[in-house]
Parts: sequence; structure tokens; C-alpha cells
Amino acid sequence: MKYYSGPYFSEDGFIQAEVLVDKGEVKDFEEGGDRGEKVMIIPSLCNSHTHIGDSVVSEPPVGSIEEVVGPGGIKHRELSEASEEEMILSMIGYINRSESNGIKHIIEFRENGLKGLSKLKIADERSKGSIDLNVMGRPSEKRYDRQELNKIISNASGLGLSAYRDWDEAELKKIADHVKNGSTSLAMHCSEDVREPIEKVLELDVHHLVHMIEADEEDLKECADDEVPVVICPRSNMFFGKIPDIPKMLKAGITLSLGTDNAMISGPNIFREMETAYRIGMMQGGIEPEEILMMATWNPRRSLLGSRKWRQRDSLMLLEHDEKDPAHEVVSVTTPNDILRFVEIIR
Ligand SMILES: [Zn+2]
Repeated sequence: MKYYSGPYFSEDGFIQAEVLVDKGEVKDFEEGGDRGEKVMIIPSLCNSHTHIGDSVVSEPPVGSIEEVVGPGGIKHRELSEASEEEMILSMIGYINRSESNGIKHIIEFRENGLKGLSKLKIADERSKGSIDLNVMGRPSEKRYDRQELNKIISNASGLGLSAYRDWDEAELKKIADHVKNGSTSLAMHCSEDVREPIEKVLELDVHHLVHMIEADEEDLKECADDEVPVVICPRSNMFFGKIPDIPKMLKAGITLSLGTDNAMISGPNIFREMETAYRIGMMQGGIEPEEILMMATWNPRRSLLGSRKWRQRDSLMLLEHDEKDPAHEVVSVTTPNDILRFVEIIR
């Protein structure tokens, strides 16, 4: 048994705490305690938006959004040329790298219908770690197919669709109605490249939206009023010359989480994503580093992963800590090399 103590990132911010660890599990937790090795204690990190399959793409992804991830672009060309084993191996590499980087929870938008889901399932089983992989599937084509949709829903945590404007409205409405009746969730990309009609998107009863960088203040307010959380992916946006206005989104009252998006554009490193979001926020008038850390820990647990507090299988991460302000340290100094260990929370 071993004691660790130091700043602990609770749902309300940092407090002093102590944990007693035995055989990799938390046996006791005490607020205010200061026995044992000095560390920083934070919930394991969540990567709230990925496209893991893109890790097979080897060509440098240079060009506009359309040229890189659009139909017939670099991504789709390389994905269609890759063998099944190449795809699976690259996905295993991505999952293992995520865990080395402190990520224990992933929300993945899996493309290519049932085939896409089965490849990821194999990769997840063959990866060595214990990642909580929440997979949102999607139909193989942009139309409503009742049978296919039922199979996708039973093999995934929900649906994660491409941008609203990619879809025929009537087909999309049928899918949304099907999902509602099947009591699963529908998430989608929105207002990444151009502003999309938020009222029509919200009518679909979406679970969460990804990007919203081209949304105006009214759109953001409507999202906040409907309690629809948003995942932002600043490094991916910046790659295409765009920057999410993080203070504006927070001011509108939106619950934000962070994702790394397409695997060939950004690796699964949430420390880098937090640092980028923090520096963008500072350029836009200032942001508290604790707000940023919330986006990688408590916000996704509360708003995306369907749990009020801890996940069924969850963990704390113990980090090196050198007595600086912990929130500033973790978002702008800490790297995956500072991870000392994970400890399991047994509920
Ligand atoms: Zn995406």
C-alpha cells in the first residue's frame, strides 16, 4: 500500500487530497490529507472526438477541408486503398498511443457503416490496454436504411454523423426519428466549414455537436438553452485555418469538451489539445486554465459519457508536480512523460 497526496482536480476545481493505493486500486481518499509521495491527482483524460480509422493515412494531409477529408479527398482515397489488416494495425497503434498519453475514454465517430464498426471492434480487442471506447457509428451511405440502422445501433453507443449539409433533410429526419424511438443517441458535426441552420439541427434532438466554429452568438445561445454540449477540436480547426472562439462559446453557456479529431491531422494527445485551447483562449481575452482542464475531464463525464460522476470503469492519473499552480502547470507544462501511473477507482 502506498500514499500519494497533492492537488486533486475535483468537479469544483483543485483541492488538497490524499489517496491510498493498493494493487493499482484506490483504497481510501481523504480531502485535505497530505501523507505520502507528492503528486498531482486528476481524473484520467477523455478524448471526446476522434476518427481513429484515419490513422492509416500516410500521405501528408495538405489542402482545404474538402481536399483532405471531403469526398474523393486524400482521406477517402487512402482509406479505400488500405487493406483490412493495415487498418486494424493502425487503429491498434492509435488506441495504445492514446493510453500512453493519459487518455482512458474516447468518443469515436466511426465511419463506413457496419464494416467500420467491426474493424474497430477487432482493434479494440487486440489492443493491450483498458480504454473505455464509446463508438458512434453511421450508415454506410447517406440515406435511411432501416435494417442497416438497427444493426449499427445494436453494435454502437449511438450515431455520429457527418455535417448537416452533407445530408438530404428528409433522409436525416427519418434517421433521427428512428434513433429517438430506439432510445439511442444521435451526434453530428455542425458549422465546421460553413454556418449551418441550428434550429433544424436541434430539431433532430441531437446528443452533442462537434465544432460549431462558424456558429454565431444566437446559434450558440440556442444550443446552450437546449443543453446541447459541444466538442471542439482546436488543433484540427487550426490546420484548416480556423480558430474556435472559446470564450464566446463559454459565455453563451455551452458545456465544452475537447477532441483531437481526424487521426492523420492530430495525434491522440489531449495535453497538446489543452495547451492549444488555453493559448487560443488567452489570445481571445483570457480563460482560466481550470476551465480547459474541465473540458478534458469532468465536462465529458457529465455531458457526453452519460454518467453523473465516475464511469463504471474509471481511474485517476497521478502526475509529476513541481509546486507551480496546478491548473496552469497541467495545461501548459505537463506532457505524457509526467504520467507516473493510473489508479483504478472501484465503485
Ligand atoms: Zn470529426
